[in-house]
Amino acid sequence: MWTRQHPPSSYADELRAGMPLSRDGACQLIRCAEQDLPALLSAATQARQRFKPGVITYSRKVFIPLTNLCRDYCGYCTFRRNPGQPGALTMTPDQVLEVARAGEKMGCTEALFSLGDKPELAFPEMRETLRQLGYKSTLHYLEAMCELVLRETTLLPHPNPGLLSAEWIARLARVSPSMGLMLETTNASLLTAGAAHDNAPDKVPAKRLRTIEEAGKQNVPFTTGLLIGIGETLEDRVDALLAIRELHRRFGHIQEVIIQNFRAKPEIPMRDCPEPTQGEMLRTIAVARLLMPDVNIQAPPNLSAPYYDELLDAGINDWGGISPLTPDFINPEKPWPHLEQLKLRTEAKGYALRQRLPVYPEFVPAITTTSGVLSERVKAAIDSDGYARRPA
Ligand code: SF4
Repeated sequence: MWTRQHPPSSYADELRAGMPLSRDGACQLIRCAEQDLPALLSAATQARQRFKPGVITYSRKVFIPLTNLCRDYCGYCTFRRNPGQPGALTMTPDQVLEVARAGEKMGCTEALFSLGDKPELAFPEMRETLRQLGYKSTLHYLEAMCELVLRETTLLPHPNPGLLSAEWIARLARVSPSMGLMLETTNASLLTAGAAHDNAPDKVPAKRLRTIEEAGKQNVPFTTGLLIGIGETLEDRVDALLAIRELHRRFGHIQEVIIQNFRAKPEIPMRDCPEPTQGEMLRTIAVARLLMPDVNIQAPPNLSAPYYDELLDAGINDWGGISPLTPDFINPEKPWPHLEQLKLRTEAKGYALRQRLPVYPEFVPAITTTSGVLSERVKAAIDSDGYARRPA
């Protein structure tokens, strides 16, 4: 048993010596008893303070749901639609620019492109839409819309299009300073009948790891993370974090790890599945922080409202993308906190809130040392510390 001040001695020794937390240690900590939680949180908070003292960041963004058609059917998803379903939408270039320009007026610096994975492979309607728009595939259209936003506005695109080949990572990296793909889990048994990914061919963990690895080979600042509460075990969470840590050890390109919690909704197949508790969130975040003390750890505040400020106690240093304009299209029933509220609650915990770009300050040089419009746009958007030029 460990005291409120100190984690169990073997792990405390590991952490004090600056050694990476072992799998065994992480598996014990992620299931620690309630009375041991304060010590775990204290160790995680100290690690965060050593990494980035006193500052919590967020990205002021607009959410651009380029298309919500998707060939996958994840059991927790409310975003996806089939063609013809109410709410099915593929945005036009004019709609994309309209949202981006409105965000620009409100001080946003990120255009987050979220979209379904390869809908044209499943739906002739999407093939026809793309033909009318003049593009061969959803990724060709995404690339053009990232370039449009980059050239016509001050926003920086951050695409989240699902699995990507080496060629597509290279193409999108020319029009966006960072990109993302949630690993979600390394548990391949969630692809079996009745599980969260049983009809989601793009959620094969090995394929997702390959995309993240390829981004590493190309030195692309990359956002990934876990979706917890979709049928995985606590050990699976540790293994997914370890897989991310290993890729970051090899390539150094993981700019951010998101810990996202599953939320049940009446319209999803997993409507009756239990949601992770706040205690599970705190433990998972704290273990992520201890496993990766020098990586930005993010958790979305709207999915832990009204007690989201407790997530700061577990070692996050970022709130993710917050929009003053567009709803969270992935969790539309969970509005983002008002930015003023977020600032007040962050400051009440003793931290300053700063606006960052979609690419984190330490990864900015990877972009600004190149030439071209992307580099110029990033240079124009940063302050002397690599944060967004606008005040938080
Ligand atoms: S979570 Fe993503 S990949 Fe899965 S169904 Fe929804 S949009 Fe498609």
